[in-house]
Amino acid sequence: MNDSTSDCVFCRIVAGTLPACRVYENPHILAFMDINPVIKGHTLVIPKAHYDPITRTPDEVLVHVITAVRHVATAVWTGLKADGLNVTQANGAVAGQCVPHIHFHVIPRYENSDNPRNWIPGKYASTAEMETFADRIRRALPTGT
Ligand code: AMP
Ligand code: ZN
Repeated sequence: MNDSTSDCVFCRIVAGTLPACRVYENPHILAFMDINPVIKGHTLVIPKAHYDPITRTPDEVLVHVITAVRHVATAVWTGLKADGLNVTQANGAVAGQCVPHIHFHVIPRYENSDNPRNWIPGKYASTAEMETFADRIRRALPTGT
């Protein structure tokens, strides 16, 4: 486990020293409402233990997290009568991460929402260029995967 610190907002929520609107909890996981929702119902799912980023989070922790994400996603989709949802997760300030304690966002989506998927698709110059990126990723995969 990375160091849990009293200045980690999400560790403080887990500890109960900072209030949060909790929606789901088990021994490993906490899910609570995002205070600044992209769409109302936007929920965060975190491990209770402090890990960050995803690349340094153990597989067994991620199994607990993604299983809880599926439970919460099911509840957001059905309970809020959403038409779909996004599950997203950021690593590093450059990726838009504000809180460095791994978390998944579950965001309901509705037909006619004025907040569409918020990235702009790009293009590779060629299939060869795409292959060079794919090759760099393949060669960097952790051993044993
Ligand atoms: P990210 O930008 O991916 O790190 O997401 C962090 C999220 O945490 C943002 O969407 C914030 O609105 C949310 N957030 C920050 N502080 C709190 C808090 N005390 N309670 C609930 N959500 C929070
Ligand atoms: Zn933390």
